[in-house]
Amino acid sequence: MAALRSVVSHARSAEHMGLRGFTSSCAVLASDAYSPKPQAKFFPARKDTMLPPETYKDKVVLVTGGGTGLGKGMTLKFSQLGAKVAIASRRLPVLESAAKEISAQTGNIVLPVQLDIRDPLAVKAAVDKIESELGLPNVVIHNAAGNFISPTERLSANAFQTIIDIVLKGTAFLTLDVGKRMIAQKTGGVFLAITTHYTNEGSGFVVPSACAKSGVETMCKSLGVEWGRYGIRFNCIAPGPIETEGAFGRLDPTGEGAKLMLDGIPVGRIGEIEEIANLATFMCSDFASWINAETVTLDGGEFRSLAGEFNKLRMVSEEQWDFMEQVIRSTNKKSKM
Ligand code: NAP
Repeated sequence: MAALRSVVSHARSAEHMGLRGFTSSCAVLASDAYSPKPQAKFFPARKDTMLPPETYKDKVVLVTGGGTGLGKGMTLKFSQLGAKVAIASRRLPVLESAAKEISAQTGNIVLPVQLDIRDPLAVKAAVDKIESELGLPNVVIHNAAGNFISPTERLSANAFQTIIDIVLKGTAFLTLDVGKRMIAQKTGGVFLAITTHYTNEGSGFVVPSACAKSGVETMCKSLGVEWGRYGIRFNCIAPGPIETEGAFGRLDPTGEGAKLMLDGIPVGRIGEIEEIANLATFMCSDFASWINAETVTLDGGEFRSLAGEFNKLRMVSEEQWDFMEQVIRSTNKKSKM
């Protein structure tokens, strides 16, 4: 909501600058553009914790980007389930405040660790700190990412490189570092990467992210096979839209995309943070130990809906179908004459 308010305030400045189109689309955001469609009542978002309370007792979980958005939501769920969680990203004050808030709620340790994941030496230092203060992670959630929408021809080489460095190389550096320790210490472990469903077919306007996230999925499929012999498994969750300040502020900055987005989701609503947190805690638990080298799409059917050529016909009314049926019947009749 803070993101929406900030967009609305930007919209007001835009209006002062004479950017009327921008302002009118921001009015969409202010009027609850993401409110669910009627069918959503059949698909309630359960927010309560799904697994037994001590599922992660004595386990250490590392969540990158754990101070905000989906990472913070997953950190809370793992912590509620008894884990000691380390959260790592660049902004230490954000991490410290999230850690304090979650720890106060669950009574379990949440360790904030400053990390720019693009730097392999910083990755090593962060994992050293986590290992000495909490123990070697049993679970790593690759959640940190960067992304924004842009026509690709507007991107500099540096912009492209930054996204690849955070998402693909950062994920690889952390996997290598923690993975080698898990192998050397014979602990086994679980890696889960948060990707996105446009890895399936690619997507314009987010090309660096599409390239980087596809690489992450390929790495997880590959290592799920290669490192199974060490007791280490890998999976991905590919979410559709879930409102966070980081994602929506950069991927739908004016709110123009909201209606289109909802039209494309068959269950008629966007996702909730607790839904991905329940799925992530399940997929990293022993209840899911036979799930390996897999990607689970969590999107209310959005990806399939966008992919099927005729799926847009959901917009056709009964009267229009009556008319089209008559036209088709008469075409059939003519073809038999
Ligand atoms: P978010 O709040 O912006 O999360 C991104 C996190 O990454 C932030 O906590 C950020 O923390 C961290 N980060 C960025 N650059 C970093 C770096 N160089 N080193 C270490 N940490 C870094 O957005 P979100 O929506 O929760 O996204 C979480 C994940 O879900 C991402 O992987 C995203 O691609 C994926 N996803 C989200 C959606 C959605 O609709 N929300 C949909 C599909 C996929 P700092 O700024 O402190 O570094």
